[in-house]
Formats: sequence, C-alpha cells, structure tokens
Amino acid sequence: MSIKKNLQQIKSELPKHVTLVAVSKTKPISDLMEAYSSGQRIFGENKIQEMVEKYEQMPKDIQWHMIGHVQRNKVKYMAEFVNLIHGVDSLKLLKEINKQASKHQRTIECLLQIKIAEEDSKFGMSAKDAEALLKSESLKQLSNIKIVGLMGMATFTDDQTQIKSEFDFLKSTFNKLKTFQTENCDLQIISMGMSGDYPLAIDCGSTMIRVGSNIFGARDY
Ligand SMILES: *Cc1c(COP(=O)(O)O)cnc(C)c1O
Repeated sequence: MSIKKNLQQIKSELPKHVTLVAVSKTKPISDLMEAYSSGQRIFGENKIQEMVEKYEQMPKDIQWHMIGHVQRNKVKYMAEFVNLIHGVDSLKLLKEINKQASKHQRTIECLLQIKIAEEDSKFGMSAKDAEALLKSESLKQLSNIKIVGLMGMATFTDDQTQIKSEFDFLKSTFNKLKTFQTENCDLQIISMGMSGDYPLAIDCGSTMIRVGSNIFGARDY
C-alpha cells in the first residue's frame, strides 16, 4: 500500500481524541512529502540532527516531535522549532531545554518519559521520581518549558497481557500525577502506542500514538 493509503486507513480508525504522530525516522524527504501531501502535519524523529535536516527542507507548517532519547548538548539545535519533546527524563534535561527555549523566547512543551517496560534498554523515569520532579521547587523556576503529559514505551513482546499491564500502569500514573497543576505543568497527553500496539494503547487511554512502519513501511538501518 502507498503512504497515503496507509495514513487514510489508520486515520479512519482513530477516535477523535487521539493524535497521530507520523514517525519518519530514517525515511527520505520524498516519503515525508507524500505524507505531507496527504494532510499529515505532525512528524516524529528520534535523532536531533536528522530532525533538523528535515525541518530545513520541509514546509514550515509542520509540527516536529522529538520522540527519541535527548542528549543535553544537542537541545540547542532544535530549540528554535521543536514542537513537543516526548523523552524528557530528568530535571537536568528540563533545565537545558528551558535555557535554550528562553534564547528563542519560546515555551517548549515536554512529556515526561516514564519507564513502563521491563527491558533495561528503555529509557525513562520511575513514577516516583516523576512525582518528585513535579513537586519540586526547581521546576517552578522554569518558565520556558511546560510539561503537558507523559510518554511510555511498552516491552517489545507478543504478550498482550504484559503490554496491557504496562499501558495500564502509565494511565494510572497519569491519573495520579494529573492532580499536580502549576504554571508550567498541566498533564493532558498520554503518548503511548506504536505500529504493533497502538489499538491496545488507545483502549488503555492513549491520546497520542507514534506510528512509523505502518505508515512508511519497514525501516532498514
Ligand atoms: C521508532 C519509534 C516509534 C515508531 O515505531 P513503529 O514500530 O515503526 O511504529 C515510536 N516511538 C518511538 C519512541 C520510536 O523510537
């Protein structure tokens, strides 16, 4: 199927409250443009350098989401344009995002990545650490960032019961942390679900799915 058909298919089945992030990592500009021509405006990349290169070549009404692990020394390259950073997992990183955002007189929206998978390879903070961060005095000083939700990645497994329990955990963490509302913290978004598990993620309360291969085809690295 074509990228356009894939997008139409996925969108036709999405509830209104769920936002689709088209994950275009490793894919050429021509593929992104095909998605753009079909109306897609939100793209997700997991490498800052690659996202910057694509940002420069693509139309400027696109919202760019950084979905990968963020190295602090690279935040400056995307601070001017990035729309949402999904993988925020420390106060140190938030401080750097705040600093770079202020240079551009922007407020950058962020999601806290919660570790919900058993695999060691997945990044993220514990629900407890996220709670401590949201309650901290240091967070209140950061006026150029806004925490707007949580993100999580389930274990890579065929075991639906396990995936469901990880998604349920993210949803219950969200419900709990949502009660902490401040100037720069208002949790609205639950970013969970990828090509293999997004219908289940939506059933479990996802409001934002990150879909790559189901739109653009398998990636070869
Ligand atoms: C690559 C990636 C996705 C998309 O994966 P697919 O299985 O191709 O849909 C989603 N989220 C993150 C964080 C990713 O790195």
